[in-house]
Amino acid sequence: MKRLLLLGGVTEALAMARTLGPQHIYSLAGVGRVPTDLACQVRVGGYGGAEGLAQFIRTQGIDLLVDATHPYAAQISQNAALAAQQAGIPCWALRRPAWQSTPADDWREVEDWSALITALASFKRPLFTLGREPMQHLHEIPAQQFWTLRALDSYPGNERCEVIGARGPFLLEDERELFKRRDIDVLISKNSGSGATEPKLQVARERGVPVLILKRPLLPPVDREFSTVETLREALAQDFL
Ligand code: NAP
Repeated sequence: MKRLLLLGGVTEALAMARTLGPQHIYSLAGVGRVPTDLACQVRVGGYGGAEGLAQFIRTQGIDLLVDATHPYAAQISQNAALAAQQAGIPCWALRRPAWQSTPADDWREVEDWSALITALASFKRPLFTLGREPMQHLHEIPAQQFWTLRALDSYPGNERCEVIGARGPFLLEDERELFKRRDIDVLISKNSGSGATEPKLQVARERGVPVLILKRPLLPPVDREFSTVETLREALAQDFL
Protein backbone atom coordinates (compact mmCIF):
# COMPACT_ATOMS: atom_id res chain seq x y z
CA MET A 1 0.00 0.00 0.00
CA LYS A 2 1.30 3.46 -0.89
CA ARG A 3 2.04 6.13 1.71
CA LEU A 4 0.37 9.53 1.92
CA LEU A 5 1.42 12.72 3.73
CA LEU A 6 -1.62 14.92 4.35
CA LEU A 7 -0.97 18.55 5.35
CA GLY A 8 -3.91 19.66 7.41
CA GLY A 9 -5.24 22.29 9.71
CA VAL A 10 -8.85 22.70 8.53
CA THR A 11 -12.10 20.78 9.12
CA GLU A 12 -12.07 19.03 5.75
CA ALA A 13 -8.48 17.85 6.26
CA LEU A 14 -9.44 16.28 9.58
CA ALA A 15 -12.42 14.58 7.92
CA MET A 16 -10.01 13.15 5.35
CA ALA A 17 -7.50 12.12 8.03
CA ARG A 18 -10.23 10.16 9.81
CA THR A 19 -10.43 7.80 6.82
CA LEU A 20 -6.67 7.10 6.63
CA GLY A 21 -5.00 3.90 7.81
CA PRO A 22 -1.90 3.61 10.05
CA GLN A 23 0.72 3.84 7.28
CA HIS A 24 -0.31 7.42 6.43
CA ILE A 25 0.71 10.66 8.14
CA TYR A 26 -1.51 13.61 9.04
CA SER A 27 0.62 16.75 9.51
CA LEU A 28 -0.29 19.79 11.60
CA ALA A 29 1.53 23.06 12.28
CA GLY A 30 0.62 22.85 15.97
CA VAL A 31 -1.43 26.04 16.27
CA GLY A 32 -4.81 24.37 16.84
CA ARG A 33 -6.09 21.24 18.54
CA VAL A 34 -4.27 17.99 17.87
CA PRO A 35 -6.62 15.00 17.44
CA THR A 36 -5.76 11.95 19.53
CA ASP A 37 -8.28 9.51 18.08
CA LEU A 38 -6.98 8.93 14.54
CA ALA A 39 -5.90 5.58 13.09
CA CYS A 40 -3.20 7.30 11.01
CA GLN A 41 0.00 8.82 12.41
CA VAL A 42 -0.11 12.46 13.47
CA ARG A 43 2.94 14.69 13.14
CA VAL A 44 2.98 18.13 14.76
CA GLY A 45 5.27 21.05 13.84
CA GLY A 46 7.04 22.58 10.85
CA TYR A 47 9.69 20.96 8.66
CA GLY A 48 12.04 23.91 8.32
CA GLY A 49 10.87 25.06 4.90
CA ALA A 50 10.52 23.28 1.56
CA GLU A 51 13.95 21.65 1.85
CA GLY A 52 13.05 20.09 5.19
CA LEU A 53 9.72 18.89 3.86
CA ALA A 54 11.38 17.34 0.79
CA GLN A 55 13.85 15.60 3.08
CA PHE A 56 11.01 14.24 5.24
CA ILE A 57 9.21 12.97 2.11
CA ARG A 58 12.33 11.09 1.02
CA THR A 59 13.24 9.58 4.37
CA GLN A 60 9.66 8.51 5.13
CA GLY A 61 9.10 7.01 1.68
CA ILE A 62 6.06 9.18 0.95
CA ASP A 63 4.38 8.52 -2.43
CA LEU A 64 1.94 11.43 -2.53
CA LEU A 65 1.69 14.81 -0.80
CA VAL A 66 -1.78 16.28 -0.28
CA ASP A 67 -2.00 19.94 0.69
CA ALA A 68 -5.26 20.35 2.59
CA THR A 69 -4.26 23.50 4.46
CA HIS A 70 -6.26 26.71 4.87
CA PRO A 71 -6.54 28.87 1.70
CA TYR A 72 -4.67 31.70 3.50
CA ALA A 73 -1.82 29.42 4.65
CA ALA A 74 0.16 30.38 1.57
CA GLN A 75 3.65 29.60 2.85
CA ILE A 76 3.05 25.91 3.53
CA SER A 77 1.25 25.55 0.18
CA GLN A 78 4.27 27.03 -1.62
CA ASN A 79 6.56 24.74 0.37
CA ALA A 80 4.39 21.71 -0.44
CA ALA A 81 4.44 22.26 -4.21
CA LEU A 82 8.20 22.87 -4.20
CA ALA A 83 9.05 19.99 -1.86
CA ALA A 84 7.01 17.48 -3.86
CA GLN A 85 8.79 18.60 -7.01
CA GLN A 86 12.20 18.30 -5.33
CA ALA A 87 11.37 14.85 -3.97
CA GLY A 88 9.90 13.71 -7.30
CA ILE A 89 6.40 12.87 -6.07
CA PRO A 90 3.03 14.37 -7.09
CA CYS A 91 1.37 17.11 -5.06
CA TRP A 92 -2.43 17.29 -4.86
CA ALA A 93 -4.42 19.97 -3.11
CA LEU A 94 -7.82 20.22 -1.48
CA ARG A 95 -8.87 23.82 -2.09
CA ARG A 96 -12.14 25.28 -0.94
CA PRO A 97 -13.96 27.43 -3.48
CA ALA A 98 -14.22 31.05 -2.36
CA TRP A 99 -17.52 32.50 -1.10
CA GLN A 100 -19.33 34.49 -3.77
CA SER A 101 -21.17 37.73 -3.01
CA THR A 102 -24.82 38.28 -3.95
CA PRO A 103 -26.37 41.56 -5.17
CA ALA A 104 -27.61 42.09 -1.59
CA ASP A 105 -24.03 42.13 -0.24
CA ASP A 106 -21.66 45.06 0.18
CA TRP A 107 -18.28 43.33 0.03
CA ARG A 108 -15.10 45.36 -0.43
CA GLU A 109 -11.93 43.42 -1.17
CA VAL A 110 -8.75 44.70 0.46
CA GLU A 111 -5.23 43.73 -0.54
CA ASP A 112 -3.46 43.79 2.82
CA TRP A 113 -3.50 45.17 6.36
CA SER A 114 -2.67 48.73 5.35
CA ALA A 115 -5.49 48.84 2.74
CA LEU A 116 -7.79 47.38 5.37
CA ILE A 117 -7.01 50.13 7.88
CA THR A 118 -7.67 52.79 5.22
CA ALA A 119 -11.01 51.18 4.28
CA LEU A 120 -11.94 50.95 7.96
CA ALA A 121 -11.46 54.66 8.75
CA SER A 122 -15.12 55.72 8.51
CA PHE A 123 -16.45 52.90 10.73
CA LYS A 124 -16.84 52.81 14.50
CA ARG A 125 -17.55 49.26 15.65
CA PRO A 126 -15.72 46.68 13.52
CA LEU A 127 -15.87 42.94 14.09
CA PHE A 128 -12.57 41.27 13.11
CA THR A 129 -12.68 37.58 12.24
CA LEU A 130 -9.16 37.23 10.82
CA GLY A 131 -7.55 35.22 13.58
CA ARG A 132 -4.70 36.60 15.64
CA GLU A 133 -3.17 39.12 13.24
CA PRO A 134 -5.12 42.19 14.46
CA MET A 135 -3.74 41.55 17.96
CA GLN A 136 -0.45 43.14 16.88
CA HIS A 137 -2.26 46.39 16.13
CA LEU A 138 -4.23 47.00 19.34
CA HIS A 139 -2.18 50.12 20.14
CA GLU A 140 -3.12 51.64 16.74
CA ILE A 141 -6.90 51.71 17.25
CA PRO A 142 -8.22 55.21 16.44
CA ALA A 143 -10.05 57.05 19.22
CA GLN A 144 -13.44 56.83 17.45
CA GLN A 145 -13.31 53.02 17.08
CA PHE A 146 -14.04 50.08 19.38
CA TRP A 147 -12.85 46.76 17.99
CA THR A 148 -14.29 43.34 18.65
CA LEU A 149 -11.81 40.61 17.69
CA ARG A 150 -12.80 36.99 17.44
CA ALA A 151 -9.97 34.45 17.51
CA LEU A 152 -9.57 30.79 18.44
CA ASP A 153 -8.51 31.67 21.99
CA SER A 154 -9.30 34.69 24.12
CA TYR A 155 -6.59 37.24 24.91
CA PRO A 156 -6.51 40.41 26.98
CA GLY A 157 -7.79 43.40 24.98
CA ASN A 158 -7.60 47.04 26.04
CA GLU A 159 -9.99 49.97 26.60
CA ARG A 160 -10.76 50.12 22.87
CA CYS A 161 -10.81 46.43 22.09
CA GLU A 162 -12.32 43.20 23.36
CA VAL A 163 -11.02 39.81 22.23
CA ILE A 164 -13.50 36.95 22.13
CA GLY A 165 -12.14 33.41 22.06
CA ALA A 166 -14.47 31.16 20.09
CA ARG A 167 -14.17 28.24 17.69
CA GLY A 168 -16.65 27.56 14.90
CA PRO A 169 -18.97 26.32 13.64
CA PHE A 170 -21.00 29.45 14.44
CA LEU A 171 -24.81 29.40 14.46
CA LEU A 172 -26.83 31.99 12.59
CA GLU A 173 -28.82 32.95 15.69
CA ASP A 174 -25.65 33.48 17.74
CA GLU A 175 -24.12 35.60 15.00
CA ARG A 176 -27.28 37.73 14.82
CA GLU A 177 -27.07 38.28 18.57
CA LEU A 178 -23.37 39.19 18.40
CA PHE A 179 -23.89 41.84 15.71
CA LYS A 180 -26.90 43.28 17.52
CA ARG A 181 -25.43 43.37 21.02
CA ARG A 182 -22.20 44.97 19.85
CA ASP A 183 -23.80 47.23 17.26
CA ILE A 184 -21.31 46.02 14.64
CA ASP A 185 -21.10 48.42 11.67
CA VAL A 186 -18.47 46.58 9.58
CA LEU A 187 -17.25 42.98 9.37
CA ILE A 188 -13.66 42.06 8.50
CA SER A 189 -13.10 38.57 7.15
CA LYS A 190 -10.93 36.33 5.06
CA ASN A 191 -12.68 34.56 2.20
CA SER A 192 -12.17 31.15 3.75
CA GLY A 193 -15.08 29.53 1.89
CA SER A 194 -15.95 27.51 5.00
CA GLY A 195 -19.57 26.65 5.81
CA ALA A 196 -18.67 26.75 9.51
CA THR A 197 -18.04 30.50 9.47
CA GLU A 198 -20.45 31.56 6.72
CA PRO A 199 -23.45 32.65 8.89
CA LYS A 200 -21.71 35.97 9.77
CA LEU A 201 -21.98 36.91 6.08
CA GLN A 202 -25.71 36.33 6.11
CA VAL A 203 -26.08 38.53 9.19
CA ALA A 204 -24.01 41.30 7.55
CA ARG A 205 -26.32 41.03 4.52
CA GLU A 206 -29.47 41.17 6.67
CA ARG A 207 -28.23 44.23 8.57
CA GLY A 208 -26.77 46.05 5.55
CA VAL A 209 -23.31 45.89 7.17
CA PRO A 210 -20.35 46.16 4.73
CA VAL A 211 -17.76 43.38 4.71
CA LEU A 212 -14.06 44.10 4.18
CA ILE A 213 -12.64 40.92 2.69
CA LEU A 214 -8.93 40.24 2.77
CA LYS A 215 -7.90 39.07 -0.69
CA ARG A 216 -7.04 35.40 -1.06
CA PRO A 217 -3.31 34.72 -1.58
CA LEU A 218 -2.18 33.17 -4.85
CA LEU A 219 -1.47 29.47 -4.41
CA PRO A 220 0.92 27.43 -6.54
CA PRO A 221 -0.23 25.11 -9.31
CA VAL A 222 -0.39 21.44 -8.28
CA ASP A 223 -0.80 18.14 -10.11
CA ARG A 224 -4.44 17.70 -9.14
CA GLU A 225 -6.86 19.98 -7.33
CA PHE A 226 -10.08 18.98 -5.52
CA SER A 227 -12.80 21.15 -4.05
CA THR A 228 -14.45 18.54 -1.81
CA VAL A 229 -13.33 15.77 0.52
CA GLU A 230 -15.54 13.35 -1.41
CA THR A 231 -13.80 13.88 -4.76
CA LEU A 232 -10.39 13.68 -3.09
CA ARG A 233 -11.38 10.47 -1.34
CA GLU A 234 -12.54 8.93 -4.64
CA ALA A 235 -9.20 9.77 -6.25
CA LEU A 236 -7.29 8.25 -3.32
CA ALA A 237 -9.47 5.15 -3.04
CA GLN A 238 -7.54 2.79 -5.29
CA ASP A 239 -3.99 3.26 -4.06
CA PHE A 240 -4.27 4.79 -0.61
CA LEU A 241 -7.49 3.84 1.20
P1 NAP B 1 1.65 29.33 6.76
O1 NAP B 1 1.95 30.78 7.03
O2 NAP B 1 1.39 28.94 5.38
O3 NAP B 1 2.80 28.39 7.32
C1 NAP B 1 3.77 28.81 8.27
C2 NAP B 1 4.65 27.64 8.63
O4 NAP B 1 3.93 26.75 9.50
C3 NAP B 1 5.04 26.78 7.45
O5 NAP B 1 6.13 27.34 6.76
C4 NAP B 1 5.36 25.47 8.13
O6 NAP B 1 6.59 25.55 8.80
C5 NAP B 1 4.30 25.40 9.22
N1 NAP B 1 3.10 24.68 8.79
C6 NAP B 1 1.94 25.20 8.30
N2 NAP B 1 1.04 24.23 8.09
C7 NAP B 1 1.64 23.07 8.44
C8 NAP B 1 1.21 21.72 8.45
N3 NAP B 1 -0.03 21.35 8.06
N4 NAP B 1 2.09 20.78 8.90
C9 NAP B 1 3.33 21.14 9.32
N5 NAP B 1 3.78 22.40 9.33
C10 NAP B 1 2.94 23.35 8.90
O7 NAP B 1 0.42 28.87 7.66
P2 NAP B 1 -0.48 29.66 8.72
O8 NAP B 1 -1.35 30.61 8.00
O9 NAP B 1 0.42 30.12 9.84
O10 NAP B 1 -1.39 28.45 9.24
C11 NAP B 1 -0.82 27.45 10.07
C12 NAP B 1 -1.76 26.26 10.08
O11 NAP B 1 -3.05 26.67 10.55
C13 NAP B 1 -1.96 25.65 8.70
O12 NAP B 1 -1.83 24.27 8.82
C14 NAP B 1 -3.37 26.06 8.30
O13 NAP B 1 -4.01 25.05 7.56
C15 NAP B 1 -4.05 26.29 9.64
N6 NAP B 1 -5.05 27.39 9.56
C16 NAP B 1 -4.68 28.59 9.07
C17 NAP B 1 -5.62 29.60 8.97
C18 NAP B 1 -5.28 30.95 8.38
O14 NAP B 1 -6.17 31.82 8.33
N7 NAP B 1 -4.06 31.18 7.92
C19 NAP B 1 -6.93 29.38 9.43
C20 NAP B 1 -7.27 28.12 9.94
C21 NAP B 1 -6.31 27.14 10.01
P3 NAP B 1 7.96 25.00 8.14
O15 NAP B 1 8.31 25.98 7.07
O16 NAP B 1 8.92 24.99 9.27
O17 NAP B 1 7.67 23.64 7.59
